[in-house]
Amino acid sequence: MKNILHFLRKLSCALVAGISLGSTFIPAIRPAKTPSHVVLAKTHQVSKTAKNAGKNCHWSKNSAKVYLDLADNQQLTQASQAAISAWNDTDSFTFTETSKKKNAQITIEPMFDPDTKAAGQASITYNHKTKLLNKAKIQLNVYYLQNLMYAYSYQRIVNTVEHELGHAIGLKHNNGKSVMYPAGSVYPIEPQDIAKVKQIYHEK
Ligand SMILES: [Zn+2]
Repeated sequence: MKNILHFLRKLSCALVAGISLGSTFIPAIRPAKTPSHVVLAKTHQVSKTAKNAGKNCHWSKNSAKVYLDLADNQQLTQASQAAISAWNDTDSFTFTETSKKKNAQITIEPMFDPDTKAAGQASITYNHKTKLLNKAKIQLNVYYLQNLMYAYSYQRIVNTVEHELGHAIGLKHNNGKSVMYPAGSVYPIEPQDIAKVKQIYHEK
């Protein structure tokens, strides 16, 4: 295991928090760091190194066990389960919830971090030679997702989890109509996202 770890690289990818453009809420907290969705979309970048290093990462098969480490946060638990179901319904990838953290390939946990623009982030560990994923950790930033000032709808929370699960199975950002759009979490899983996952896992 130690030898394998030698080849592991880590990639972090974040979904930037966005202010809902139709929202009646005015962001009163840290306005300098909470520009509009459009501005955030332009400023968010995945580092070049991480982008290249993460190319074609994938699990050995199109399924993975997920542990929800969300304690008693019912809304995030429900949203995570909805996101898992949404991916499973696409028939491109199957997530199975496990009750044992040590058996999980992917974990989902909350974080509270006002100092990042990310509403969610995914860290993946993979074998640098084979590109096989080893672990993925998704963190949901309750500072944005469950803060009335940011007016996240339940659907946008679900979209955020779908996005991070997308990273956790090897998807990269997509500036089109895609759940992998880098900011704002406005899109759910779209046809091109399903096609991409099928391409990664079924057409290799
Ligand atoms: Zn992202």
